[in-house]
Amino acid sequence: MGKTLLGAGTLKAGDVITIHIKNGNVVSPDEDYEDKFDFEILSKDPEGYFIYIPDYHYLNETKVITNYDISLLKMNIKFLGSRTLYVKNSKIAKIKNKLDGMFCKDCHEFYGYATSNQTDGTLVCFSCRHYKHWRSSPDDD
Ligand SMILES: [Zn+2]
Repeated sequence: MGKTLLGAGTLKAGDVITIHIKNGNVVSPDEDYEDKFDFEILSKDPEGYFIYIPDYHYLNETKVITNYDISLLKMNIKFLGSRTLYVKNSKIAKIKNKLDGMFCKDCHEFYGYATSNQTDGTLVCFSCRHYKHWRSSPDDD
């Protein structure tokens, strides 16, 4: 127990990990938890990973990504102003193969088992597609 998951140190930006949450804090995989969520890795250091936290997740100890973080941690510039959380390797509950799903290009939500539906090889989810379609269509109701 308390052992770091095999391969936990070998992930890279774009890979997806599952972490366990209790009272808004990340807990070790062998502790009790209330929720578990999948998060995209943005960057790494020798001890762990910086993960992307969508706005609807209320986790403790997140920080807003600054220009300094982007350059220091070599994060994708598209995450400037988003929230990140640092997770140690030993807190990773599960490693998800990113081939098991994709992130929506517009809202960055992860969709398990989704495949590309755009000509450039990316995914745009149903709600993003529907909302854009609805907003840009003339509607004479
Ligand atoms: Zn979307």
